[in-house]
Amino acid sequence: MINRRLFLASVVAAAAAATAGVAHAEGKGLVGLAMPNKSSTRWISDGESMAKEFAGLGYDVDLQFAEDDIPTQLSQIENMLTKGAKVLVIASIDGTTLTDVLQKAHDAGAKVFAYDRLIRGSENVDYYTTFDNFKVGVLQADSLVAGLKERFGSVKPWNVELFGGSPDDNNAFFFYDGAMSVLQPMIDKGEIAIVSGQMGMDKVGTLRWDGAVAQARMDNLLSANYTDKKVHGVLSPYDGLSRGIISSLKGVGYAPGAEMPIVTGQDAEVASVKAMIAGEQYSTVFKDTRDLAKTTASMVDAVMQGKEPEINDTKTYDNGKKVVPSNLLVPHSVGKDDIQKMLVESGYIKAEELQ
Ligand code: BGC
Repeated sequence: MINRRLFLASVVAAAAAATAGVAHAEGKGLVGLAMPNKSSTRWISDGESMAKEFAGLGYDVDLQFAEDDIPTQLSQIENMLTKGAKVLVIASIDGTTLTDVLQKAHDAGAKVFAYDRLIRGSENVDYYTTFDNFKVGVLQADSLVAGLKERFGSVKPWNVELFGGSPDDNNAFFFYDGAMSVLQPMIDKGEIAIVSGQMGMDKVGTLRWDGAVAQARMDNLLSANYTDKKVHGVLSPYDGLSRGIISSLKGVGYAPGAEMPIVTGQDAEVASVKAMIAGEQYSTVFKDTRDLAKTTASMVDAVMQGKEPEINDTKTYDNGKKVVPSNLLVPHSVGKDDIQKMLVESGYIKAEELQ
């Protein structure tokens, strides 16, 4: 009887300890995750992967998407601070508009991580996790050139048009500069002609990464410059723009096959991977958002425990106030033949999503 009572008491004590343990793990604090929108599938998977990673590490999570509206993102971040967030992980809509709210974050003792997109003009950005964005541009241009060789090998020069990302997103300049590091020498040699003459981010940028804006610009480029010639390639920095560009091309009669222009992309979005299978889009750049989420969560956890987080770049990302210590992951170029291995077998996209 005594033994039994002792046994029961120890079970109760163990259960209490276990509960306390869970409570302790859950008590690591609140992390605010501010993502730009749900219209691009990558941000949904970034958000979901991070929510899972942080929960696994014992944090509470407040995950918000801002539908590309700057005031909405600002108030979401303010709310996170009001709720007592100890860490903010922010993929900004406009990287220059967060200075005031980040000052509040700093005053409240919260740590700030710029996620994928650099936050500019603020001292209060502690770390930056992203992919090698210059490399993304290089991969896009390399695959454009490979596609031009493959499909239009005998044509010289290749007629190409350029698209850039959103000028309020620091990444857009890195993508463009990376791509131009490959394309400019070929333009100089006369191997590639930018028929419209439109070059430079001030001319080719696409505000808010909006596919409809890209489609309208492509319509104009085609009607102003291509009534008597063919376009062979389009540099596109993001799948959502590529889909707009492809709609425009299809609108004037281009169709999958020998004359379809080479169109690049980024993010391996399901709709665009399907367009690759259909022979409409030539390539995309795959950035495994699951890895970015994991890396970010483990860096946050290190900082919260007073340890040094892993970084691998202390030079590249000057935000105008400081060089933000960064952790850069590796992007991968994906062509039609790589879809199965890189996207499906890795579990990033389910085979049935591509049906
Ligand atoms: C991201 C890209 C994405 C683009 C549009 C950029 O900041 O790095 O992955 O294609 O935003 O959402």
